[in-house]
Amino acid sequence: MPVSILVNDLHSELNPSMVQQVLTVRSESDVQHAIGLAARTGQKVSICGGRHAMGGQQFGSDSILIDTTLLNQVIEFDSALGTITVGGGMQWPQLIDYLCERSSIWTIAQKQTGCDNLSIGGAISANVHGRGLKMKPFISDVESFRLVCASGEILTCSRTENQELFALAAGGYGLFGPIVSAKIKLAPKVALQRLVEIVDCTQLIEMFDERRRAGFLYGDFQFSIDEASDDFLRKGLLSAYVPVSADEHSPSNNVSLSTEQWKELLFLAHTNKRHAFDLYAKHYMATNGQVYWSDRFQLATYVDGYHKQLDPNLGQEHLGTEIITEIYVPRMKLADFLLAARDVFKSAHADLIYGTVRLIEKDDESFLAWAKEPFACIIFNLHTEHTDAGIERSSRAFRGLIDLATAFGGSYYLTYHKYASRKQLDKCYPQFAKFLAKKLEYDADEMFSSDWYRHYKRV
Ligand SMILES: Cc1cc2nc3c(=O)[nH]c(=O)nc-3n(C[C@H](O)[C@H](O)[C@H](O)COP(=O)(O)OP(=O)(O)OC[C@H]3O[C@@H](n4cnc5c(N)ncnc54)[C@H](O)[C@@H]3O)c2cc1C
Repeated sequence: MPVSILVNDLHSELNPSMVQQVLTVRSESDVQHAIGLAARTGQKVSICGGRHAMGGQQFGSDSILIDTTLLNQVIEFDSALGTITVGGGMQWPQLIDYLCERSSIWTIAQKQTGCDNLSIGGAISANVHGRGLKMKPFISDVESFRLVCASGEILTCSRTENQELFALAAGGYGLFGPIVSAKIKLAPKVALQRLVEIVDCTQLIEMFDERRRAGFLYGDFQFSIDEASDDFLRKGLLSAYVPVSADEHSPSNNVSLSTEQWKELLFLAHTNKRHAFDLYAKHYMATNGQVYWSDRFQLATYVDGYHKQLDPNLGQEHLGTEIITEIYVPRMKLADFLLAARDVFKSAHADLIYGTVRLIEKDDESFLAWAKEPFACIIFNLHTEHTDAGIERSSRAFRGLIDLATAFGGSYYLTYHKYASRKQLDKCYPQFAKFLAKKLEYDADEMFSSDWYRHYKRV
């Protein structure tokens, strides 16, 4: 009698799934062995890295779960060309540490913000982005990857080999097989000076443009979460980072928040939003002018399972966690969107804990591209009570935000949840039905499956 194992995502904790077994793989042949086992027993295969996706993409009920965490070797570092080949389970802190030890010239171009223990395989499969001011999604940083197909064969996928599979698997949420290794293009490591200002969202795109023209490489806008204030979604901290000479401005003695201060801010974001934002703004303003290396400044403080520590102090009747959503709008519509989004929050009674705006350039390579044009990306992190009513409140807000975005010619990100309606999916991802058909071309028996895939097949 097989014993099922309960797995769940690590941020929202709202995607419990019972898998048949978890196979932790360490090599390509381990992965081939797992796929051979699934083929012989007729089981499905799901694939996970850091387990942070929030729509059940990394788990499939009753499947064999391939855990790639130990597929984390550096396979080749080419310091002349600035590329690194790593196992698909390699996570950002390990990669950044490796590069810091081996090179003063190269580092990663971008990674996700707000969380670090995320894998390269997960980054490719969600086609993620960071806070570059002129960057495309992560596919543009990928030179090639090795993918194990349903037959067990290993294929190299790149812009010149198996091009279609390259475009499908990047942003394909593990549905075309495990990525066992990837060759990543690196970026020159530079010292960056942070410039911080408090601005109104109506000035934002113009200011982002100014910064881009002045050579700033990274930036974001963290906005007020205090629904009771007129500043809500309007006023925020614009931070931008410009390369400076490392000889003249060595990164040292920077002011930063301790883990305890982060926890305090998280607590306040749940209980006193005005105070939380004011305190955060005060801290951020104090960092104006500080200099950072372009690698470590991309790392974040993320306290694993922070809600378990927070909950006893919140005094709430029901446990909860946060769910993120990411919305895209044409850049010129950003201010209109943010101001109109205030009504969505009001009518949905949604509980915003954190929000930020970034920029993305158009992705013209991945099949399921979300960056269909140079968008502004708006990220909302909503506290969600783990009750039917709590989940409905957040999902109503998400659908309201997606409707608003599409009215402005925008879209949303598939990574964070699956609360969008069929109509919204069709509107934002008209290529989705073709994506599912392509999946069957490459994996006729649907060996690679997930709760997310099953959901979308149903809708
Ligand atoms: C707090 C937080 C902050 C975030 N910030 C950002 C952000 O700034 N920008 C952004 O774009 N996203 C962001 N995300 C989303 C995150 O980048 C994606 O969900 C990403 O896929 C998670 O990587 P993971 O290693 O945890 O993958 P998992 O959650 O384990 O898996 C995600 C998907 O990738 C597939 N997958 C994982 N590894 C492999 C592999 N080796 N081969 C094939 N398929 C694989 C899985 O099957 C699944 O479909 C954030 C998420 C959280 C929780």
